Amino acid sequence: MGKITIDRNACKGCGLCAINCPEKLIIIDESMNVRGVHPAKFTETDPEKCKGCKMCAIMCPEVCIEVYK
Ligand code: SF4
Ligand code: SF4
Repeated sequence: MGKITIDRNACKGCGLCAINCPEKLIIIDESMNVRGVHPAKFTETDPEKCKGCKMCAIMCPEVCIEVYK
């Protein structure tokens, strides 16, 4: 079991974390952040599926994801 947090205002909306999450737990938010982009958002429907594998954090060029296990 894992859990992540995303610094939404540091996110540049590239989507790399969403593409690389093996469980597809990251979505792109409909609302914009302070940078004027649609940021990544952790799932609210099935967060218990997170394995804490850190793939999302490793892929993030802005280092805005923290993983807890
Ligand atoms: S830690 Fe792994 S399973 Fe959890 S959101 Fe990130 S990539 Fe997905
Ligand atoms: S990889 Fe980082 S910058 Fe790109 S969408 Fe995900 S959280 Fe945002």
